[in-house]
Amino acid sequence: MNFCLSEDQQLLRRSVREFAESEIKPHVREWDEAQHLPGELLPKLAELGVMGVQFPSEYGGAAMSAVDYCICIEELARVDPSVALSVAAHNGLGAAHIAMFGSPDQKARYLTPLARGEKLAAWGLTEPHSGSDAAAMRTTAARDGDDWVLNGSKLFITHGASGDTMVVMAVTDKTKGSKGISAFILERGAPGFVAGKKEDKLGMRASETTEVIFQNCRVPAAQLIGEEGQGFIQTLQVLDAGRIGIAALSVGLAQGAYEAARNYAFERKQFGRAIGTFQSIRWKLVDNAARVEAARLLTYRAAWLKDQGRRMTLESSMAKLYASEIAVRASEDAVQIHGGYGFVKDYPAEKFFRDVKLTTIGEGTSEVQRLVIARQLLAA
Ligand SMILES: Cc1cc2nc3c(=O)[nH]c(=O)nc-3n(C[C@H](O)[C@H](O)[C@H](O)COP(=O)(O)OP(=O)(O)OC[C@H]3O[C@@H](n4cnc5c(N)ncnc54)[C@H](O)[C@@H]3O)c2cc1C
Repeated sequence: MNFCLSEDQQLLRRSVREFAESEIKPHVREWDEAQHLPGELLPKLAELGVMGVQFPSEYGGAAMSAVDYCICIEELARVDPSVALSVAAHNGLGAAHIAMFGSPDQKARYLTPLARGEKLAAWGLTEPHSGSDAAAMRTTAARDGDDWVLNGSKLFITHGASGDTMVVMAVTDKTKGSKGISAFILERGAPGFVAGKKEDKLGMRASETTEVIFQNCRVPAAQLIGEEGQGFIQTLQVLDAGRIGIAALSVGLAQGAYEAARNYAFERKQFGRAIGTFQSIRWKLVDNAARVEAARLLTYRAAWLKDQGRRMTLESSMAKLYASEIAVRASEDAVQIHGGYGFVKDYPAEKFFRDVKLTTIGEGTSEVQRLVIARQLLAA
């Protein structure tokens, strides 16, 4: 066992941290208030390799590992969780689905510009009536000659309006339940494919979230991913890996909240001393530092299993569940340690507290993670 990051990984962490501090930190509040998805950042993120972290170099990716990916997402989330969410949705959902299950032609055509950061990916699973119970989706795709015709809508889609390439799950055979769901690649601008309402969100506001509508949207048969009926099985595998990204995001967010609280604790004086010298504040900081480290280890372990090509359904769910829940705690404690200053926008604690709630909801709620873990651990 070796718990040390390699020199390359330490360098990667430093590079992404410096980038986040210089290119993102000065704009965090402005982007949050305006709900601005910072498209101007994409070429710079692409230069760092962050838009195609784990994809093969033949498809324009940086060919890094899942552990490297966690380092990148962590460092972005430490400064702005909403930028990290967009990068994670691009890499870990839309682009990953094509990388994992697309044909060589589909990868050359669609994955390459995504991995190079020339285009932005989206992934459409959730619908107004189907969230946790994703297999109950109602969007349909009917075969018509050489095309599929999609009708329905998706909700809460990251980059639903700005995404260039979207992977969409739709029912192709109603009689087969989850085995009657297929995945398609859609391009922005296709007739009958339009973005609906943009959500006005509590947190993660610089990450765009919209409704997406399909009205007799024609998709050439060549844009079906894998075989008909395989879409739901593909989805579960995409989510197994995607959850490692949300776990890493939670670790980075918790780290950022912890650091903000620690710094403030030694700036703020009450009763003639820094509040960081009071035992109740020190214990909060210590407990959060320990929990962040535990979450990081769970997350890296799940990533390491992925890098070994081993199954990690259980480990990625445990990492996502634990990391997101300790991140909520770390963010709440950061607000408490800031007192009234934690309640206003001049300090970062307030934004971490708003952003963090997404981590226990997106890519499977905490309750769904517990169901997944129970299925793995407690099978009769
Ligand atoms: C900012 C943001 C970005 C998102 N991005 C995307 C995206 O890019 N693509 C995409 O497809 N989706 C996306 N989502 C959707 C997200 O994955 C869903 O919101 C999530 O899976 C929960 O589904 P739901 O909102 O319908 O809640 P529901 O499934 O209705 O759940 C409501 C509550 O019931 C609980 N619950 C449900 N079923 C059970 C059960 N069996 N046992 C116990 N409790 C249960 C849940 O845990 C939750 O507490 C995004 C959501 C947000 C907020």
